[in-house]
Amino acid sequence: MEQIVLATSNPHKVEEINAIVDGIEFILPPAGFDPIENGKTFEENSLIKAKEANRLTGKITLADDSGLCVEYLDGEPGIHSARYAPSAQERIDKLLNVMKDAKNRKAKFVCVMTLLGTDGKVLTQVRGECHGKIDVLQKGKNGFGYDPIFIVDGYNQTMAELSEEEKNKISHRAMALNGIIEFLKK
Ligand code: IMP
Repeated sequence: MEQIVLATSNPHKVEEINAIVDGIEFILPPAGFDPIENGKTFEENSLIKAKEANRLTGKITLADDSGLCVEYLDGEPGIHSARYAPSAQERIDKLLNVMKDAKNRKAKFVCVMTLLGTDGKVLTQVRGECHGKIDVLQKGKNGFGYDPIFIVDGYNQTMAELSEEEKNKISHRAMALNGIIEFLKK
């Protein structure tokens, strides 16, 4: 089976993507993968991660840069989502607290994927978005990150209350990945 290095240190992302894609095995980069994410956009940071994983492995690499953009906070935490507070629970608590009086609770998950060839050149870059709103309370145990406080448009449960299978049909990551799969099929 063909292998593609997924430029992340988050094993959850590797699991999610392997559950979506058949016929390709996604693997974590080697120890020492520590890209300096100093881009100003999801697109720039996705490219920085992909290039670092390719530099370390010389393999085809796919990078996922993602985050949660909240309208009331002018798009924050956005590219700072992973570092918004020290732990996953503190990030949720902080967001619920800053949003406690917010009437506009619209938000979106964004995922930008960049695929590089073995030579480090960009093959394609795809953006996926999943629109919804920030709940007032945390609910559910599935998924990761901000899933327990995000309700996808058209749903009543949080993303952490959806099964892995349901999340993988509608998530920002699944949308971006579909674009990458279409590209690989060609
Ligand atoms: P990245 O690993 O630099 O792309 O940072 C992404 C951060 O955004 C994660 O650490 C999460 O906090 C958040 N995030 C991205 N995708 C998801 C998701 O599917 N569910 C919940 N949180 C997510």
